[in-house]
Amino acid sequence: MNSLHDMTVAELAQALKAKQVSAVEVATGFLARLGGNPHNAFLDIDSEVTLAQAQASDARLAAGTAGLLEGVPVGHKDVFVTRDFATTAGSKILTGYRSPFDATLVQKLGASASGGAGMVTVGKLNCDEFAMGSANENSAFGQVTNPWDTARVPGGSSGGSAAAVAARLVPAATGTDTGGSIRQPASFCGITGIKPTYGRASRYGMIAYASSLDQGGPMARTAEDCALLLRAMCGPDPDRDSTSLDVPAEDFTASLNQSLEGLRIGIPKEFFGEGLHADVRAAVDGALREYEKLGAKLVPISLPRTELSIPVYYIIAPAEASSNLSRFDGVKFGHRAKDYTDLVDMYKKTRAEGFGTEVKRRIMTGAYVLSHGYYDAYYLQAQKIRRMIADDFQNAFKACDVIAGPVAPSVAWKFGENAGDPVADYLADIFTLPASLAGLPGMSVPAGFGTGGMPVGLQLIGNYFKEAQLLNAAHRLQQATDFHLQKPAGV
Ligand code: GLN
Repeated sequence: MNSLHDMTVAELAQALKAKQVSAVEVATGFLARLGGNPHNAFLDIDSEVTLAQAQASDARLAAGTAGLLEGVPVGHKDVFVTRDFATTAGSKILTGYRSPFDATLVQKLGASASGGAGMVTVGKLNCDEFAMGSANENSAFGQVTNPWDTARVPGGSSGGSAAAVAARLVPAATGTDTGGSIRQPASFCGITGIKPTYGRASRYGMIAYASSLDQGGPMARTAEDCALLLRAMCGPDPDRDSTSLDVPAEDFTASLNQSLEGLRIGIPKEFFGEGLHADVRAAVDGALREYEKLGAKLVPISLPRTELSIPVYYIIAPAEASSNLSRFDGVKFGHRAKDYTDLVDMYKKTRAEGFGTEVKRRIMTGAYVLSHGYYDAYYLQAQKIRRMIADDFQNAFKACDVIAGPVAPSVAWKFGENAGDPVADYLADIFTLPASLAGLPGMSVPAGFGTGGMPVGLQLIGNYFKEAQLLNAAHRLQQATDFHLQKPAGV
């Protein structure tokens, strides 16, 4: 048996079922690794809670009532509310907040007594404040470092999740992806992550950033592990999330070994233009050659409005955020300013003290594009182009089955490289935003290494509900390559 922290979710689940190891032993092993909080990946750890969950798992393993992933540790992005751990969404404004309930995805992955997969929560993972960011530099609780090079960002906004999985502090984690926040940190940290079709997994209890885009999903080291978690996470939640779709979860592992013979992989020319760094291009090209060897055919396609996805997203997401974040007013949750003269003053001071710079920037941008006189010029136009971007994908899927390209134009950048220039971070989202705006499933798969030995991810985008096809394509690549098995030095 590998040492515990090197085992995948699939391996751990099997070892636990076979009673080669107990859930308490597994939890104790991981808790020892994350003591001292390497990479500042965690925002809340509570070993008592974790060990109690592990004991309950052991009881179910003994009784033969174990869930699918009974006893396997998981970390949750701090955007998911949890009853047993603090929840901050990376923001000072939620300091001291504890949710009275678990988010649906936390519940579905958690205690099998309540219908979950039986995973044991080891803590809450650092992220950009309210999931706004591409580098985890916007967390109110400090930056997360990239395990491959601690001078570099882990990506964002699910930076804590990606760093924790890459450093083997957890075998798997949840993330949320509004404009790329599962795929881009997965790419920067050399792990695998999938954002399912919008609406395929419930948003209930996921602190809202931009509701028409927000989607939770798994981050792990292998496509197989992502398939296992995704199976538990998907499914309708009609009473609690009105945008959740009536599409049942699937056993995504069942289709993992299908042949790629004849698979048509669309290569959008707009994803390989000037801004793409040579090292990323080389790694992505290498992965595409592997697919050809596996029998796939590369088909040139066009997604002509790729560039427009940046202004469109950075209008729509802030517009929705400005509305969603109005609930943080010092009355209902978390922080309240100490000295104020009246109610309005209390709102103002609470929000001025509680929100960070990037969150304030987006609230102001959002309020502006929704305001009378600018609504038609910005918000309405953006909505129209969003529809066209979705149509472009449907057009492209006439000629191909999946779409492949880079996740980001470069490898993880160094801390401070984009400091003071938020637009530089926005521009780096160019390849992840289109699928988000269209609501399509997308994933990042380790495809090689670039500058400074940093990981490079290949992005795979599928048509609606084609998660199984994406996971199979990723799995086949992982059988042919060993990028996902490489570890950062010292891990
Ligand atoms: N980087 C994008 C943003 O800052 C995407 C974030 C996300 O997907 N949560 O909004």
